[in-house]
Amino acid sequence: MNKKIWLSPPHMSGNEMKYIQEAFNTNWIAPLGPNVNEFENTLQSYLGANNFAAALSSGTAAIHLGLILAGVKQGDEVLCQSFTFSASANPIVYQGATPVFIDSEADTWNMCPIVLENAILDRLKKGKKPKAIIVVDSYGMPAKWDQIIALAKKYSLFLIEDAASALGSTYKNQKCGTFGDIGVLSLNGNKIITTSGGGALVAKTKEIKDKAVFFATQSRDNAPHYQHSEIGYNYRMSNILAGIGRGQMEVLNDHIALRRAMHNFYVTYFKDTKGVTVFTEPNTDYFSNHWLTAILVNPEETGGKTREDLRLALDAANIESRPLWKPMHLQPIFANDPYYGGALSESLFQNGLCLPSGSNLTNEDRDRIKLALDNFFSE
Ligand SMILES: *Cc1c(COP(=O)(O)O)cnc(C)c1O
Repeated sequence: MNKKIWLSPPHMSGNEMKYIQEAFNTNWIAPLGPNVNEFENTLQSYLGANNFAAALSSGTAAIHLGLILAGVKQGDEVLCQSFTFSASANPIVYQGATPVFIDSEADTWNMCPIVLENAILDRLKKGKKPKAIIVVDSYGMPAKWDQIIALAKKYSLFLIEDAASALGSTYKNQKCGTFGDIGVLSLNGNKIITTSGGGALVAKTKEIKDKAVFFATQSRDNAPHYQHSEIGYNYRMSNILAGIGRGQMEVLNDHIALRRAMHNFYVTYFKDTKGVTVFTEPNTDYFSNHWLTAILVNPEETGGKTREDLRLALDAANIESRPLWKPMHLQPIFANDPYYGGALSESLFQNGLCLPSGSNLTNEDRDRIKLALDNFFSE
C-alpha cells in the first residue's frame, strides 16, 4: 500500500529539537519559562505593534478566556458564525451562555454582515442585547473585517476573532488575529504551524494579556500562599511545546508560501473542470494563508458526480480529504439554539471538500493527487 497523503500534516523546521533540548538542559519543564516568553515575543513581532500574545494550551482555551474577558456569563447571548469548527461555539456553552448562530456570505464563507445586523436588531427587539460576537477566518480566508468591526462598534459588542487557522493571512495588509478586541490562534497539529497542541490569545494591551495569563494560571492572587478571588483555569502553554513553537515561527513564511503553492496547484488543475470551483480570495484586499484549499463540486455540472463521490475516490487512493464544516446550527448539540440566515453555509457543507494542503507535500504526492483526480473526472 502506498503511504497515506494527509489533509494537513505537521511540518517541522528541524530547529524545534534545539529549543526543546534547551528546556531540558535548563530544567524548564513547566508551563512557563524562556521558550514561552520567546515564543510570545516572536509572535508579537510577527503580528505587529500593539499586539500582546499569551501562549496557551489550545485555541479553544483562547476562545474561552476571550469570552471570560468579554464578561460573558450565565444566560448571556453570544453571536457566533455557524460555518465553523465546533471549538468556536463550545466555550459559549462552558460559560452557561447561549450561542446565536449566523450564516455566512458567498465570497469569504465567513459571517455575513447583513445577516449579522438583522440578527442584532431582532435580538434587541426580543429584549436581549448580545454580549459578544465570534467571527471566524475560515480555512485562512479573512472575514469582511471593515463591515464586521463597524457593526461591533455601532452596537458596542465585544468582538472575538477566531483566527485559529489564519495565522499569516491579511486583510488590507493587516494580520489576521488582530481585528477583534481579542484574537485567537491555534497551534494544533493540523494548523499552518504547530506546537503539537497549543494556542494563543492576542490582546490589545499588556494589561489584558496579563489578565488572560492570570486566568490561565489558576487565578492566583498576589500572596505567598494559594489565594483565589476568581475562578481559574490551567490553560498555559508548556515550555517544551513553546520550544516547538519557536522552531515553527522560523518557517511560518515558508509554510505560507508552500500552502499558497498547493492552492495554485489546484487552481491550475481545476481551471478547465466543469462544475468545480476553487475557493479563492474575492479581491486583492484579501490575502489567505490558504491553510486548506477547498473546492465546491456542483453535481449538476459534473454529470452527477458529488463531493462525496470524490472524497471516496480519493480515500480509495489513500488520499485524505474532508467535507467542509457542517454548520453549527445543523449540529444535534446546538439544534435548539437560535439561527439567522439562509442556506449558504448548508450548501457549502453539501458541496464542499477540503483537499490535501500540507506544506510538506512532495512532487510525488502531487502526481498521485493529480492521477486520482484525473481518474475520477474522466470516468
Ligand atoms: C482549530 C480550530 C479551533 C480550535 O483550536 P484548538 O487549538 O484545536 O483548540 C477553533 N476554531 C477554528 C476555526 C479552528 O480551525
